Amino acid sequence: MKIDIAEAIKSTGEEFTAQLHGALPDIEFLGERYTFPDGVDVRLSWRYDGEGVIVTGRLDARIPVRCARCLAEFTYTIGADFAEYYKKQPEEGMYAYEDETIDFTQMLEDNVVINLPSKLLCREDCKGLCSRCGADLNKGDCGCGPETDGTNPFAGLSDKLK
Ligand SMILES: [Zn+2]
Ligand SMILES: [Zn+2]
Repeated sequence: MKIDIAEAIKSTGEEFTAQLHGALPDIEFLGERYTFPDGVDVRLSWRYDGEGVIVTGRLDARIPVRCARCLAEFTYTIGADFAEYYKKQPEEGMYAYEDETIDFTQMLEDNVVINLPSKLLCREDCKGLCSRCGADLNKGDCGCGPETDGTNPFAGLSDKLK
């Protein structure tokens, strides 16, 4: 995804905006692959400040993911606000532009990764899978009963309470 910034560079300080819909390449992150089957929606504003281009905006996308607890597939909706700085000769923490064009694909991917929760859950109170039989506990009790193998830190306590 690209924007032409030639006009902005000619008119320092003036703000330009665009609303775009496009494809984003798959992201590989911590052994997981994230895809964007519906593409992504991007709102962008940019202006040249005499040295570089300030780009602000928002990215919205729907990403098919797997629940970290019960392994069910669900769609995670990501919404990321960003504010970035582009320069021809970027310094640390900046992005580079070339030929009066900004390709902001990498920046969008970085913002997706930053905004992904460390644990993706199908719902906040997902009960996960039974550690003994593997049943999905969201669909009801599997009948295994509470853990009694000693790994439960409260097992001894319930004995004392009896
Ligand atoms: Zn789940
Ligand atoms: Zn079970």
